[in-house]
Amino acid sequence: MYPDEIRSAFSDLGFAPFRASQVFEWLHKKGVGAFEEMTNVSKAQIEVLNKEFDLRSCRIENKCVSKLDGTVKYLFRLIDGELIESVLMKYKYGYSFCISTQVGCKMGCRFCASTLNGVVRSLTASEMLSQIHAAQNDENVRISHVVLMGMGEPLDNYDNVLRFLDLVGHEKGLCISMRNISVSTCGIVPKMYDLADRKYQLTLSVSLHAPFDDMRSEIMPINRKYPLSEVIKACRYYCKTTNRRISFEYSMISGLNDTDECAGELCKLLKGMLCHVNLIPVNNVRENNFEKSDSNRIERFRQILEGSGLNVTVRRSLGGDIDASCGQLRNNHLKRQGG
Ligand code: SAH
Repeated sequence: MYPDEIRSAFSDLGFAPFRASQVFEWLHKKGVGAFEEMTNVSKAQIEVLNKEFDLRSCRIENKCVSKLDGTVKYLFRLIDGELIESVLMKYKYGYSFCISTQVGCKMGCRFCASTLNGVVRSLTASEMLSQIHAAQNDENVRISHVVLMGMGEPLDNYDNVLRFLDLVGHEKGLCISMRNISVSTCGIVPKMYDLADRKYQLTLSVSLHAPFDDMRSEIMPINRKYPLSEVIKACRYYCKTTNRRISFEYSMISGLNDTDECAGELCKLLKGMLCHVNLIPVNNVRENNFEKSDSNRIERFRQILEGSGLNVTVRRSLGGDIDASCGQLRNNHLKRQGG
């Protein structure tokens, strides 16, 4: 709830107005998981809070720590028993946290483990925030950067994501700057226009993965609904409206989308746009047979893009030993449970 929503609900309950900011800070700054932990609220009021409200916090079901780089992967259990994943990564500039926005995903991208069993439900804003609090409390760190790149399609859960964005930056809460937030989408075009018009200073990441429509439709079914030309048009509008550069994600799949021809076409597609291209060696998921392109191929691809003036990085792979890519941990857990 936004602070003014809490204030108005509290006023209906006859609570003093200062209680609203007190409770907001307990929830959003200190990240408590239960009303009982709010030590300066009376027992009687805690009882009322428990009766009237629902705290949608998440519990750590499982946790894997990479021996290679300290990346922490969490499997969280939600209040209704559903499972989601988040990943905590340590960078030179601080801690970056990748959160889920849905239980599962309905987009059907062929290389992605999150979508194998479809979508179960969308997360509320508090379930997104609660992933951050749970990790901060568990590791005793302060998270400075958040990426909405875990399970789910953020723009398919748009209203809750907007609420999350408004709350995560709140000065009396986590106070994370919009500039430190990335939202990743497979290209839900109408929502990209809407987001642009809101002029948030966040980074929009767009999962491209192929420069030709037939190839992209093959690996990302959403391309049949919103083809490349429309996605790119929306991206250009986004840059113009927000003055922010787009970050394109391009997973390198051996023998499929990693040819010189693809690189050339990508250059044409992105010509003149304020953008950055992130090449990601595809993570092999047991359920598909995609292999990552070898490093020479990736290097050659990068050179072609750079040669035409594009800004390119090859994503460093973190947590390679702990199934840290999209949806892998939950699937393995469900399988072990026979689910
Ligand atoms: N639904 C959003 C965000 C979640 S996926 C989106 O599509 O952008 C975050 C990123 O990881 C996307 O770029 C997605 O395409 C990519 N991804 C998913 N599974 C992957 C895998 N096995 N290997 C490499 N990248 C993957």
